[in-house]
Amino acid sequence: MSKIEPLRDGHSRLIRDVRISVTDRCNFRCQYCMPAEGLPWLERDEVLSFEELERLVGLLASMGVHDVRLTGGEPLVRREFPRLAALLAAVPGVRDLSVTTNGFLLERDAAALVEAGINRFNVSVDSLQRDRFFEMTRRDALPRVLRGLEVLAGFPEAHPIKINAVGMRGFTETEILPMAEFARSHPYEVRFIEFMPLDADHAWDPSLVLTGDEIRAAIHAVYPLEAVPREPSATARVYRFTDGKGKIGFINPLSEPFCGDCDRIRVTAEGKLRTCLFSLHETDLRTPMRAGASDDELRETIRDAVWRKELKHRVNEPGYRQPQRTMSQIGG
Ligand code: SAM
Ligand code: SF4
Repeated sequence: MSKIEPLRDGHSRLIRDVRISVTDRCNFRCQYCMPAEGLPWLERDEVLSFEELERLVGLLASMGVHDVRLTGGEPLVRREFPRLAALLAAVPGVRDLSVTTNGFLLERDAAALVEAGINRFNVSVDSLQRDRFFEMTRRDALPRVLRGLEVLAGFPEAHPIKINAVGMRGFTETEILPMAEFARSHPYEVRFIEFMPLDADHAWDPSLVLTGDEIRAAIHAVYPLEAVPREPSATARVYRFTDGKGKIGFINPLSEPFCGDCDRIRVTAEGKLRTCLFSLHETDLRTPMRAGASDDELRETIRDAVWRKELKHRVNEPGYRQPQRTMSQIGG
């Protein structure tokens, strides 16, 4: 294994992180992601099996991709998801296995996922008010998500727990201080993510992006913040409250793109490799895998695709085209 070259793109970026969507299905219908009526789901046999995922993660890990994040759709709706997590945690070379979830099934699954070896959790919560949570996710599920978070918080191995909130102008402004107070009074790091043009409803418009800077200024005016030095390849800018009560982060892909240090690729639920969230092209890995491609052949296919990884996203440029897939179909 040591002779295998690390995975690198044509701009000399080493690829160390993969986000894998384990299902395109979801039990929520967040406005910034899915339409109210849902999307046409993939057939079961179109989705990569546990064995295929295990092989793919092994191949990627053999090329230096040590960080694996499982996402979706909603990963916890995939049948026997904790068993999949345990399989992937045991793949040689996997150092960090994490999950992004809407939290709806955490009350049921937190213990099994921690036991399986998931060591980092991101839970999406856009509002701490029940009616507004319902408005955004189209599900009346806030109490259940908060109970799931509490169960998760009971496991020291799961800390630090991160909460993701999408910043949307016209919605998020009234959530900012309650979220900051939540981060100050609970063992959670809240991170605001700028709204990106990956929504199924194509409602995105630059004017709807509430930037990380605007949110930070609103918090700083009430609860002073100081910057925490940034780790290489970290997507979030992290700040601590100067009185020591917790941290808050900002993921600013639009106002402060971090493409220059991007070390990430993505695999969709049906096995398409995407080298950027905003890619207009993808590489099919499922067909060669099912046609009997060898490990070396698959590694070559992955290397070729990764070599062409986009230098940067072009959301802020004229003529930008939104990918056909939504965030839930890519694996955010
Ligand atoms: N269902 C899980 C969840 O919601 O956490 C995992 C998948 S979801 C696509 C992953 C993350 O993408 C979530 O934190 C969600 O808030 C974020 N997201 C979805 N659509 C987005 C958009 N248009 N802009 C920014 N973030 C988005
Ligand atoms: Fe589902 Fe996550 Fe998309 Fe919300 S953001 S609809 S929870 S996949």
